[in-house]
Amino acid sequence: MQNLVATLSRLPTTPRLPAVFIGHGNPMNAIEDNTYSRSWRELGERLPAPTAILCVSAHWTTSGVTMVNVKERPQTIHDFGGFPAELYAQQYPAPGAPHVARAVIDMVRSTPVEPDVEWGLDHGAWSVLIQMYPEADIPVFELSLDLARSPLAHFAIAKELKRLREKGVLIIGSGNIVHNLGMLAQNVRPYDWAVAFDAHVADALERRDFMAIVDSGSLGPVARLAHPTPEHFLPILYAIGVADESENLNSFNTSFELAAISMRSFVLS
Ligand code: ZN
Repeated sequence: MQNLVATLSRLPTTPRLPAVFIGHGNPMNAIEDNTYSRSWRELGERLPAPTAILCVSAHWTTSGVTMVNVKERPQTIHDFGGFPAELYAQQYPAPGAPHVARAVIDMVRSTPVEPDVEWGLDHGAWSVLIQMYPEADIPVFELSLDLARSPLAHFAIAKELKRLREKGVLIIGSGNIVHNLGMLAQNVRPYDWAVAFDAHVADALERRDFMAIVDSGSLGPVARLAHPTPEHFLPILYAIGVADESENLNSFNTSFELAAISMRSFVLS
């Protein structure tokens, strides 16, 4: 505990930053001018300037361990295949935030958090941040998603990180509220199960019933279709886990892509 008090006291106290969830969707949003990329640019302009960003991305998963990147200079990871050369040429040279990342190691007590120097910024982080903060001058670091842990355990980790919001840190969960790549379809309405799962999360957000989101697996087949694998769902739990039920909700990009991806995004502040 002494360690934790000392750790937090080293980070300057600031007005509380919002908690953010971004539905990131197609990596091309990093370079395209579209509704999504424009909304991310506007969000970056509208939010109070953070001193550091913690991004919990769907694209950094680990198994049986939770890791936090402590690099001074995280590299841009092009973790996708079959896209135009222009996308692979993108770099997001923001510095890391090792001092904040090490504070995360002290703050999280529900599970050990290991320092990592291999990962950098995957596209779940940089494809959004390149639009939100194109200057790449705000330090950024990522926390991994341990796929061996339950939704409730992820929610518990997020709760332990809540105080970072008063230490200048913008916490962004980057995933998708519905994400089934195997069911993508052109020129059709979103699937019923996609609409149902998205509505479940939207309603729970409206009511600030965060536990209903943590317990989304209780929807059964609808939940399994919305998330055949959990990695794009889990970042939502970080955005709500660092928030309070009393906060204001601002939802945006409440649309679907290719019938099976919800782009719904939100800010709690
Ligand atoms: Zn993704």
